[in-house]
Amino acid sequence: MFRTWVFQKVKCLFSLLLAGVHAFSQDTIKKHLPIIDVHVHAMKVNPNFSMDMCPWFLKNMAGGDPNQPAPSFLNTDCAEPLKAAKTDQQMQDEVVGTMKRLNMTIIAYGDPDILRKWQKAAPGRVIPGIGVSSGKEMTVRAFKDSLSSGFYKVMGEVAPQYQGLSPSDTMLDKYFAVAEQLNIPVGIHMGTGGNGMANITSPKYRASLGNPFLLEDLLARHPKLKVWVMHAGYPMIDEMIALMGANAYVYVDIAGFIWSYPLEEVNDYIRRLVQAGFEKRIMYGTDLLVWPKLIETSIGVIENANYLSFEQKRDILFNNAVRFFRLDENKFK
Ligand SMILES: [Zn+2]
Repeated sequence: MFRTWVFQKVKCLFSLLLAGVHAFSQDTIKKHLPIIDVHVHAMKVNPNFSMDMCPWFLKNMAGGDPNQPAPSFLNTDCAEPLKAAKTDQQMQDEVVGTMKRLNMTIIAYGDPDILRKWQKAAPGRVIPGIGVSSGKEMTVRAFKDSLSSGFYKVMGEVAPQYQGLSPSDTMLDKYFAVAEQLNIPVGIHMGTGGNGMANITSPKYRASLGNPFLLEDLLARHPKLKVWVMHAGYPMIDEMIALMGANAYVYVDIAGFIWSYPLEEVNDYIRRLVQAGFEKRIMYGTDLLVWPKLIETSIGVIENANYLSFEQKRDILFNNAVRFFRLDENKFK
């Protein structure tokens, strides 16, 4: 009898607990307003180059000497560096876990196998993009076939700056024509190069080729092309504002600089874009590489921005990307 009573009690308690867990998870799913990250790199993890990282590490761009070793791209020296994933599976599990918890959808570029695996693990949450930066990666035909297959929905990350090219260089023009013809949005890297990009990995990199004004010829040649400026042309705020003023369909993302340059500088840059009237054209992006926790670190910058209203935060984290990528808002409800 006592055993039955205990059993009943335990069963009752267990179902109460289960109901509680169920209600809690329903609740958290409902409460989490959707977030769209327009700038994620889905790539194979190389454990030899997968270093931990201190956010906002560029607050100290120390002086160097060309006769000494080049400055390191990252700073790993802080109290709590973000841990780099050591395997593809770890990266996938942590990223997918965060995406589900925060109700996120991502636009992701990189290795097609990784993209397919992430898509499978997080159905409906991964929108693949394909980038061309010099025109040497693939033929125009192959590029068009990749987009026509339906797997890729976005052209990005296009990064001619690292190749010593302007985005308006005619080498890339036929690829942009394909994107325009197929109604594919295009993300182009402009600006940001950290400390000494030309000295470290990219000798062809030129700061001047990140100038947003260099997009003007491209935009004039392809009036139906939908372009967003990745990294918002940081630090060329005046040119960025002038370009967006002259070209009503250009949006920006705030990826990369949001977690690498000094935090006060980051907030000043975003505040200036909003102050200039562009709160409807700023999209959230991480520029995720190998640190899964970077997603929360970067979203935190927007959530903690006391110069943004709740509505402005929602625009940046979600609404603006829905509009720019012509997504169906009902699918997020
Ligand atoms: Zn970039």
